[in-house]
Amino acid sequence: MTKSPLSAIPAIDLSRQYASIKQELDAAIQSVLDGGIYASGQAVAAFEREFARYCGVNQCVAVNSGTSALHLAMIAAGVKPGDEVITVPFTFVATAWAISYVGAKPVFVDIDPRTFTMDAEKLSRAIGSKTRAVIPVHLYGQMAQMDSIRDVCADNELALIEDAAQAHGAEYRGRRAGAWGKIGCFSFYPTKNLGAFGEAGALTTNDPAIAERLRHLRDHAQTQKYRHEELGYNYRMDELQGCILKVKLRHLEDWNNARIEKAITYKAKLRNTSVSLPFAAPEVRHVWHQFVVRCSARDRLQRHLSSAGIGTSLHYPVPIHLQPAYRHLGYRRGAFPVSEQVAAECLSLPMFPELREDEIERVCHAIASAETNP
Ligand SMILES: *Cc1c(COP(=O)(O)O)cnc(C)c1O
Repeated sequence: MTKSPLSAIPAIDLSRQYASIKQELDAAIQSVLDGGIYASGQAVAAFEREFARYCGVNQCVAVNSGTSALHLAMIAAGVKPGDEVITVPFTFVATAWAISYVGAKPVFVDIDPRTFTMDAEKLSRAIGSKTRAVIPVHLYGQMAQMDSIRDVCADNELALIEDAAQAHGAEYRGRRAGAWGKIGCFSFYPTKNLGAFGEAGALTTNDPAIAERLRHLRDHAQTQKYRHEELGYNYRMDELQGCILKVKLRHLEDWNNARIEKAITYKAKLRNTSVSLPFAAPEVRHVWHQFVVRCSARDRLQRHLSSAGIGTSLHYPVPIHLQPAYRHLGYRRGAFPVSEQVAAECLSLPMFPELREDEIERVCHAIASAETNP
């Protein structure tokens, strides 16, 4: 009898999640198709109410991507051309794009070497007379050090905007992502902890006036139909994504808890290997959007896992200050040593709620064997 070859383990498999709630989703999608209203309808409005409640805020404004959410947040925070906005260089590039879209300048501060989120102590030193806002990023599902960041923003009258694109349901001292800043920005890109079947995003706030402004801006800035007092955008979420997200939101807590379980298993099984394990600060509920280990021979380990049929990814291999698109900012290699080192050493292991125990076992075994057999 020949042994059947082991199947590949993907970095992420979205089809397993669809299969697990197919009937519920298909029925919801069908009802939108049958209803004949495909934009600006009840499904998006209902999702907004439920996501606001989930995050513990008064208001949610749904949009068509996380990038659009960040862009509108910059406008609503009053960021103008020539202003400066502080964020981290170790994030997805969209955090910086939003700052640039309004003609402001991204100013970076390095990350904390343990949590990979904004180093709150370095934040104060980066503030200048042109600083208007700060965007901490809740990277990989772990919230930034929000109590100290919030205090620094309050003391310096800076708008605090959360990039919560990777942190649906994450908590800091018991309060959820999106409920700490003036505005929270979420992405529902398919691979996120809460993912649409296409592009989608949202903003959260406790300020009804800000929410009204955001609703206005996302819909061509119409004061009344076909009357536009300022530059507007078409950043609306469509009804199909709204109904899909509304169904999926009911499962988000189970999925986040499953990710937390996978992270515990990974940590236990990788304890005696030479990769360094991710750190969750005691104040946080980490929701493990990614499970990222560090390894000085990262590229070799990635090739080894790939040859064992194990998919991995890099979040993110090039920090933003070293991206060609931001050459004009004049940052050099060495400017943010922690971000640069983590970018060179990070490796995202397979992580999604439907990942099986036997698959985690195989990933950990492959990592251990990489060391004994380089
Ligand atoms: C995904 C992501 C975004 C952008 O969201 P999109 O929906 O893809 O536009 C922004 N910031 C971070 C940290 C992200 O992970």
